[in-house]
Amino acid sequence: MTSPDTCAHITAVTTVTHAKKKECDECVKNGGTWVHLRTCQKCGTTLCCDNSANRHATKHAHASGHPVIASAEPGERWLYCYPDDAFADY
Ligand SMILES: [Zn+2]
Ligand SMILES: [Zn+2]
Ligand SMILES: [Zn+2]
Repeated sequence: MTSPDTCAHITAVTTVTHAKKKECDECVKNGGTWVHLRTCQKCGTTLCCDNSANRHATKHAHASGHPVIASAEPGERWLYCYPDDAFADY
């Protein structure tokens, strides 16, 4: 958490929540496909990224007000805050 761009939402994430499953919770219901996965740091749901057709992670953030996601991709260790458009490595 050393990025100068880190906001209060990201600072509040003391323990990163990791994906429980390697699939988008919404796409599996609808038979959709995804490119990359992100995990909501508020409720732990794992959803697809903005490169995916359905952009469920972004939709979830706007609909629920949950600000911070973590990448659920292997080898990627970063957090992103929607309201502040801020990234942070962890
Ligand atoms: Zn923020
Ligand atoms: Zn999805
Ligand atoms: Zn959430």
